[in-house]
Amino acid sequence: MKKETGLGGTILKDGNSIKFKTGSWKSRYPVHSRDLCKSCMLCIPYCPENCIKEKDGVCMGMDLDYCKGCGVCAKVCPFHAIEMKTKNEVK
Ligand code: SF4
Ligand code: SF4
Repeated sequence: MKKETGLGGTILKDGNSIKFKTGSWKSRYPVHSRDLCKSCMLCIPYCPENCIKEKDGVCMGMDLDYCKGCGVCAKVCPFHAIEMKTKNEVK
């Protein structure tokens, strides 16, 4: 068996989360509305995967390769600019 963590699940090397795409975990998808978003950036520090992107002070939405669909961003957005949807609802 391949050893991937230390005793008790200790993380042995920092910055390794980039290697583990958690996007396949989700059953719901955050749908970001650029029309409603005010780029207040409140959602960014709440995202446990740090997968909400910003560029030049503008919120650019989520990197779905890492978003695990927890819905925290939708919960904290004061402008209701993020809506959680199922895969079928997104299509
Ligand atoms: S919390 Fe809402 S309004 Fe603020 S940046 Fe995130 S999506 Fe945009
Ligand atoms: S659903 Fe969760 S993991 Fe995905 S962008 Fe929102 S806070 Fe981050």
